[in-house]
Amino acid sequence: MKGLWLLLVLVAAAKAEKGFTGDQVIRVNVKSEEQIHLLQALETAQEWEVDFWLDPVSTELPVDIRVPRFSLIPVKEHLTFHNIPFTVMIENVQELLDKEKAEMEANQMKERSTRSLNFGAYHDLNTIYSWMDTLVADYPNLITKQHIGVSYENRPMYVLKFSTGGYNRPAIWVDTGIHAREWVTQATGVWTANKIATDYGTDASLTSLLNTMDLYMLIVANPDGYVFSHTNDRMWRKTRSVNPGYACRGVDPNRNWDAGFGGPGASSYPCSDSYHGPSANSEIEVKNVVNLIQSHGNFKAFISVHSYSQLLMYPYGYVCSSANHQAELHSVGRAAAQKLTSLYGTAYQVGSICNIIYQASGGSIDWSYNSGIKYSFAFELRDTGRYGFILPADQIIPTASETWLALKHIMEYVRDHPY
Ligand SMILES: [Zn+2]
Repeated sequence: MKGLWLLLVLVAAAKAEKGFTGDQVIRVNVKSEEQIHLLQALETAQEWEVDFWLDPVSTELPVDIRVPRFSLIPVKEHLTFHNIPFTVMIENVQELLDKEKAEMEANQMKERSTRSLNFGAYHDLNTIYSWMDTLVADYPNLITKQHIGVSYENRPMYVLKFSTGGYNRPAIWVDTGIHAREWVTQATGVWTANKIATDYGTDASLTSLLNTMDLYMLIVANPDGYVFSHTNDRMWRKTRSVNPGYACRGVDPNRNWDAGFGGPGASSYPCSDSYHGPSANSEIEVKNVVNLIQSHGNFKAFISVHSYSQLLMYPYGYVCSSANHQAELHSVGRAAAQKLTSLYGTAYQVGSICNIIYQASGGSIDWSYNSGIKYSFAFELRDTGRYGFILPADQIIPTASETWLALKHIMEYVRDHPY
């Protein structure tokens, strides 16, 4: 009996979901390099357990920090002592999460009775995976599901391939959700795949595109992290691989690509949210994508979707020098962002990763660009910090709809500029 009781306690503990009651997200508009260094020191003050939603790297961009309830006083005193002004963006993180969860549960009930997927809601991995099967079944002449490997925890990784025939046609890659907590990205992937399926044959431009090119979409690029963000820790970003000798798990899968690996803008500390991992491609989720892209050999565009900050970026991140095609990438990016803005007025900044955010090594689009895929772009979707990673579900469809205009512009440009 005692053994059973202990087992039950352990099961309960393993299932316990991390709480964020009283946690706040504070914003600092940094004014100097000195302030950046002071904020960076917060990350190494591990007893405060602060979680940078936006990293302290540049005086051009705000820094958003989730501060656990128990650290609010020391962190705020620390900032005040150093004359660093801050504002509170989110008063109580848990309140937003409770609302998000209640909406998800209400939607699940509704979906069970209507037996159709609500694109304006967040979904767990199983729901997304079974919806993929429905989509493939509904559009068998356009879409196939490819199993590209399994994750660290043995979950299958699926790519939706949109193709109207031909052999190894030039192709476009889109991934969403490489960072688990960026939930609007996976939701945007789902909406976008459905949009493409339903518009093919009616939208002349998209139809002509799919008559000459293939499109690959990896909607859940980090399935283990995504599941963990639903079951245990809504703020989880990384993979779930074990770091030998450390209790903290996971590697930042967008610091793990073979492009300036281990350089500036990535951490060598396994407990950091930007830990680059033991070696390039150490994460099976990254390696699976690398294998597919390399064995295919005919990708012409590689688009990676993140949130938040409303940015459209191109290489490089690991160095601050210009990419060879900087001028062309910038003008394509600018035009795509204009299309996006035309729908609801959502403002985007466009530039290279290093110029617009910060030097960050081991990122996916630097790897794809260096692998010869000229049209490599990364998005940071809505918002600019009001809700951050906890974007209300009623913004999913507006976000996906505006993003589609930018994606479509890039795809059409790639179609019209073969290389
Ligand atoms: Zn991200």
